[in-house]
Amino acid sequence: MAFSPKIRRYLVVFLIIGWSLALFNSALRFNSLRYPLKAKQLYRDNRLLMGTFWEVTSPNKQAGAIVFSEASRIEQLLSKYIATSEISRLNRLGKLKVSADTFYIIKKSQEFCRLTQGAFDISVAPLVDLWGFTNQKFRVPSDDKIRAVLKLMGSDKIILHEKDSVVEFRIPGTRIDLGAIAKGFALDCAVKKLKESKIDNCLINAGGQVYALGDKFGQTWKIAIRGARKSEIAGTLELKNKSASTSGDYQQYFLIGNKRYCHILNPKTGYPAESGISSVTVIADSGLEADALSTSVFVLGKEKAKELAAKFNNLEIKITE
Ligand code: AMP
Ligand code: MG
Repeated sequence: MAFSPKIRRYLVVFLIIGWSLALFNSALRFNSLRYPLKAKQLYRDNRLLMGTFWEVTSPNKQAGAIVFSEASRIEQLLSKYIATSEISRLNRLGKLKVSADTFYIIKKSQEFCRLTQGAFDISVAPLVDLWGFTNQKFRVPSDDKIRAVLKLMGSDKIILHEKDSVVEFRIPGTRIDLGAIAKGFALDCAVKKLKESKIDNCLINAGGQVYALGDKFGQTWKIAIRGARKSEIAGTLELKNKSASTSGDYQQYFLIGNKRYCHILNPKTGYPAESGISSVTVIADSGLEADALSTSVFVLGKEKAKELAAKFNNLEIKITE
């Protein structure tokens, strides 16, 4: 059949429009099969827990409640600010049979202590108190007092009785503080609970300590890292099934003149860490690893951080000096 040139032009235009519509339609259907239009909403929920502001973002409405209930459970076990927590009771009694979670995190902390040659040390608790970081009554202690407290510290002062889940301190006066690792552990526990509830996409931000589970409707979760000195954004990270933890000298500190004394202490000297780092972000597969290692790198400094990183898989370290 022969068409006039004018009719042929119309036919071509119709065909192109038809194909375009068909393509657009199938793209829409493909996307809405993966992410039904109704579910393209994100729910945000926040809560104060473990001394910080937790924010949960997820396409699933239940995610916030699941995360908060798990973080609160861990806080009740590990917080030194809760008199009935296992850590407070252990610190008072010097020996205690503890839950599997508490035993696990103390055991992991001992491993980090060995891996960092003592830079990461949960027996830092009496030193944290001495500098006034527990009750915000800051002071520079005398060298005598620092020396006395250092004698209570070290991983050899903590005995783990694996068989009956008992933790015991070798000498009176030793105490532990899980502030450098508990939030990371709580993130991992929360992520486990989310997965058990078939929630595969969620961003948890616990005061700058983050776990990014899955993605946001097919796009990686993006998080901002704040600058060490100014409150502006220093950079952004794209994370999927990873945790990022930042330790910095701007988070808790006091000044005497221009001298800054921060809350991360060097167990070798008894003084606040001065490794030339003002902020470090560690990206790892688990919250526990990211949290423990960001504190460790802050104490160890840039050069030793490289040696430490070589002992782990998939570790990324971003340092601001
Ligand atoms: P983070 O903010 O995770 O780096 O942890 C800092 C907190 O960990 C401090 O507030 C102390 O409670 C505790 N801490 C301080 N220095 C150390 C250290 N060298 N090893 C382990 N925990 C520490
Ligand atoms: Mg930490």
